[in-house]
Parts: sequence; structure tokens; C-alpha cells
Amino acid sequence: DSKDFDEEVKSVCPFCGVGCQVSVKVKDGKVRNVEGINGPANEGRLCVKGRFGFDYIHHPHRLTKPLIRRSDAPEKGLNVDPNNPWTHFREATWEEAMEKAAHGLGDLRSYYGGTSVAGFGSAKCTNEEAYLFQKFIRQGFGHNNVDHCTRLCHASSVAALMENVGSGAVTASFNEIENADLAIVIGANPTENHPVTATYFKQFTKRGGELIILDPRGTAMKRHAKHMLQFRPGTDVALLNAIMNVIVEEKLYDRQYIEGFTEGFFEFRDHIRAFTPERMSELCGIDAETIKTVARSYAGAQRAMIFWGMGVSQHIHGTDNSRCLISLALLCGQVGRSGTGLHPLRGQNNVQGASDAGLIPQVMPDYQPVTDGEVRELFKHIWRGTEIQAAPGLTVVEIMDRVYRGEIKGMYILGENPAMSDPDVEHARKALAQLDHLVVQDIFLTETANYADVILPASALPEKTGTVTNTNRQVQMVRKAVNPPGEAREDWQIIVDLARRIGLDWDYDDPREIFDEMKMSMRSLHHITWKRLETESAVTYPCSGPDDPGQAVVFGDGFPRRAGRAKFTPARVTPPAEMPDDSFPMILTTGRQLEHWHTGSMTRRASVLDAMEPEANCSLHPSTLRKLGVEPGGHVRLTTRRGSVEVMARADRAVAPDMVFLPFAYVEAAANILTNPALDPFGKIPEFKFSAVRVEKA
Ligand code: SF4
Repeated sequence: DSKDFDEEVKSVCPFCGVGCQVSVKVKDGKVRNVEGINGPANEGRLCVKGRFGFDYIHHPHRLTKPLIRRSDAPEKGLNVDPNNPWTHFREATWEEAMEKAAHGLGDLRSYYGGTSVAGFGSAKCTNEEAYLFQKFIRQGFGHNNVDHCTRLCHASSVAALMENVGSGAVTASFNEIENADLAIVIGANPTENHPVTATYFKQFTKRGGELIILDPRGTAMKRHAKHMLQFRPGTDVALLNAIMNVIVEEKLYDRQYIEGFTEGFFEFRDHIRAFTPERMSELCGIDAETIKTVARSYAGAQRAMIFWGMGVSQHIHGTDNSRCLISLALLCGQVGRSGTGLHPLRGQNNVQGASDAGLIPQVMPDYQPVTDGEVRELFKHIWRGTEIQAAPGLTVVEIMDRVYRGEIKGMYILGENPAMSDPDVEHARKALAQLDHLVVQDIFLTETANYADVILPASALPEKTGTVTNTNRQVQMVRKAVNPPGEAREDWQIIVDLARRIGLDWDYDDPREIFDEMKMSMRSLHHITWKRLETESAVTYPCSGPDDPGQAVVFGDGFPRRAGRAKFTPARVTPPAEMPDDSFPMILTTGRQLEHWHTGSMTRRASVLDAMEPEANCSLHPSTLRKLGVEPGGHVRLTTRRGSVEVMARADRAVAPDMVFLPFAYVEAAANILTNPALDPFGKIPEFKFSAVRVEKA
């Protein structure tokens, strides 16, 4: 009953990239309830995280005052108790903490040069905050060593899309599945990771749409699918090339589309001939006839979409995987019309927006390359004379390597948790421990904050106003529902304060001013104004006029590449970086689970979600558990070349007998102690989805 609340504020769910709009119900300055409202991506629906995961913002672990590491603190490490951090940290005033933060970073800049300091921003913050953060590093330290978690999720997808389509965003909103006849979902588990999207997928199958799932792990959606191809992990390119081989050999492709809208087809056709279904079948474990059936179905569909997730992107051949998906769609002309398209499902709620805002080392806002002199001139003009470095910066894992080697000595980390999220996380933790100066800005004392010299208490999404952009390219308005606790501040305010203290001439008083500055360099925001977002709550980019709600489907009349043509890029089969052997005979794959969010800093402090999934767990096939002599609910030890964790084991027939699936939200059994830091050479994304592992009874 609305009388039970003082206020209802329209905003956006803080968790996944679906970007569900919510009504936040407030009573006595606290969020008491959250309900779905009629946003373009959710039409009133919410999943369990959005509906019940809100009370983390009132958890007693919230940081309410700035903290400074004590001079007599023990060694930096994970040994800080969030209930009692006082042997490691002491409370400070904002003035003292900001001076220490600014002097620490500024002194490193003076002594060793700007490249001694790097930054990780956050996809959990607003677009305006992401924009300010990359500007802070680029303008304040004179280089591009600034990145965020997109590097760990869809960097390879974006690399392939930029290369072959000319744009890193989706070509069609996921809602377009309503107009499709067929959809391929590969390397994604929407029921757990994008649950509201999964409801649209289920509706699609109910009205007769043909769903094809390609995944090494069975997913809950497979009972809705016409075909479920459970291929061997790491053989995506073999499978996709075999599908395209059938389309090419049987001349099922769309010749007119290829001639009108693409380049590189003939080289691609010659390349793909070697990948016969019969040959690839042995590699990927799917029989040749099934491959042919799926190829004919996709090529025969009037309107078909392809969705993918981290199962595609988090491999050393992640960019090649996405290249294959793009080529498949181009072969059959399945881009640019309603009910067609390419859609990498985004992970964090604002990973699209943070990437658009330039929080990546190779490009400025709107993916404008730092290597382009005209782009640098544009920003020199907007940023009042700032020289932009022409050299692309370092990515997340590369930055941590430089920290480990002592070349980077200071970091400003906002809302990221590399002490949990980096691959081979022990390496990252050792690196963080040896930083001369680490400033962490967050809402909790995260595992990364344990290593900080200064901790700045920040705000959660329901405590701030700004814009975010979801997986559908929908720019949406987030509205402040409650105040941050204690002395915590909004993130943009902290960045502005720190910028002034390191000598930058910044004068923003409101997120709207930041948004207006973003519009000066970002064509994607044309016709999207703050005022429109306040009244309409969401506008999709690109947008052609002040009354246009934006284009759900793009590239119907050509691509933003040379001559308007998209490109076929052939992909070869590359084995995973580390294959199972006698010592590590099984395959480890990692991911999320429905109730928890990324490194767990928020959802493990959300009472309902934590009650639903309180314990670190992994999933193994029942036959594997039997062989190990472990009952479901018993414990196993997982060991890779990098480390070992103990975890509760669940029986799950969806996991192949030679695999183990491990969620990465649990600090007590951190999945990334085990994962391989080998990188995709193009997207620089680590191979989280494939490590050789030994599983034993604990
Ligand atoms: Fe939030 Fe994603 Fe769930 Fe929607 S689907 S409620 S955005 S977590």
C-alpha cells in the first residue's frame, strides 16, 4: 500500500545489464521495498536480485567515514575484519583523507611520472561518474592506463564487433526476439544471469519461436529449446565454423546481402571450406548431422537473432568466437531488420555506459580511438588544452602485472574488486600489497580495500542521481531515493574533489553538467537530453530526433565502417591455453549464479539473497561425485597450477562429467585463486572459462 511509504522513487536496478526499471519505496529514510515498473527492458518484471536484493545498502558494514591506514598497521592483506578494522585503519575527516589521497597520488606523479599511477573505474557507477573517472586519469596523469570490468567480461566481443561491424554495442535490443523466428543462445545462461531477459526468451518459444542453445553446460532454458548442443568446452570456433561450412557448401547464404553490405566474403568462403562438420565433429563432440540441421535452420529462418555471454568471450580465443558469430549473421543477412541481430548480453548494470563513456584504455568516449589525431584535438578543445596520449593504455590484467613488477606504484580504484576479480588472484593480491599508495573508493571494505592506504566512503546506486545504459543501448535515469549513510558521498563528488586537489581546474556542481559535457564529444547522445531522461526515463541510442525514442535495431542501411560494409574475419581453431593432463585432469569453468552478483560484496550483504545461497559451492556431475566418493552437499578440494580452494559440492547433470562449475562470488573459496591469467590477444580478456583442475574429496 503506497500509504506505507513516505516516497516512491523511479530508478534502475543496480545489478545486471538488463537494466530493469524499479520503484524504490522509502520509509523513514530507508529503502523498504522495491517493485518492477514499466521500463522498456522489463515491463514490470524483476528477478530475485532486483526484487529482494536491496537491503545491502543498509548493511552495518557500509563505510560511513573516510579511513586511513594506521601507521602501526600489520602488513597489508586480506586479514581485515569488516566489523573491527581498527587495528588496520583509523577514521579520518574528509579533509585529511582527501589530502592524503591527493598527495599520495600527486607525489608519485611528481617523482616517478604520471605512468606510475593507474586507475580502475566502475561499471556500477553512473555514466557521468565513469566519464569523470577516465578524464581524471587521462587529464591528471597524462596517459590512458584506465580500465574497468568490461575487460573481464565482453572486451573480446567488443573487439570483434568494432573490427567487423564498426560499433561495439548490440545491433538489436533483446526485446526484438518478439519479432524473430529463431534465436541462437551461445555461452550464456540467461535464467541465472539475465533472468528478466530469459522470460522474453521463454515467451518467444511459447509462441513457436525456435530456440537453439549452444553451451558446454546444460542450462535451465534447454527444456524450451529445439536443439541443445552441449559441445566440448573451448571448441566454439570448431563448432561455429562447421555450421558456417554447411551454409557455404550448401549455398544457403544470402548472396544479395553479402554483395550489398559486406566485404571479405571470398577469402572467408575459401577459409571455411576446411571446417567440414565431419572433421569438426570429433573436436567439438557434436555429430555432423546435428551440425547440419542447426546450420540449415539458422540459414532458413526469416528473422534470426544471436545472443551470447561470457561463455563466448572469456577465452583466449574469445575475439575469434565473436568473429564467428558476426560472420554467421552476415552470411545469412540476419542483421539490420526487426527480429534479427547480434546481442552480447551485458553483465554489470552499467558496463555498456561505462564503456561508452570512455572508461577503457584504447578509446575515448564513444569508442573514438586515442590513436586518431582529430579525436585528440577534439578532447584537447573540450578539456581546455589537455594533451591526450596517442598510445593506447594498459588493460586491467596488464596493469596488475605492472604493479607486480613495481612499475606502477599508485592506484585509484573505484568500485572494482581486483583482489577477487582478477585471474590468478593471488598474483593480484601480492601486487596490491606492494603498491606505495592505493586509494579505494567503495561502499564496503572490499577485499581490495583491505590493501588500501586511504578508503573513501561512496554511494550505492539508490543514493545517487545520474544516467546508466543497459545492454539494449537504453540510456536510463537513476534517481536518488535515500541519502548515503553517515558521511559517505556520491562518487562524482569525490572524483571532482580529488581532481581539484591534484591540480585540475574542474568546476562541476551537478551530474547534469557532466552529462552536458559528455554530449559535446559523444554522437551517441545526440537528441538525448537530461530533461528528456527526467520525463521519459529511458531513450535508446542512436536517436534521430527530439521525439524519437531511439532505434532498437541498427545497421539496416549499412554499417559504420568503410563504404558501409561489415567484414568477414576468418577464425582458426585455437586450443585453450592450458589443457587437462594427468595432474589436473578435469576442466574448471566459472560464472555467476542467480542469487549472487559478481564478487559478492553487495549480494552477500543482502539478507534474502544471502539466506538463499549462504555457502560457497560448486557443481559436478553425479557420476563424478560418485567416483570421488562424495555425497551431494559434501566438500571437495579444487586445485589448479595456481592454487587450491575447498567448497561444497552439488550434483548437477547439466555439468559434463569431466567439468566442474564454480561461482566466483565467494571470498572463502575465491574462484580466481584457480583461474588462468592467459589473455585473448585482441580483447585482452582472461581465460576464465577454461582451466585444468584436479578435484579431490576434501
Ligand atoms: Fe536487476 Fe538484472 Fe534482475 Fe532485472 S534481471 S531485476 S536488472 S538483476
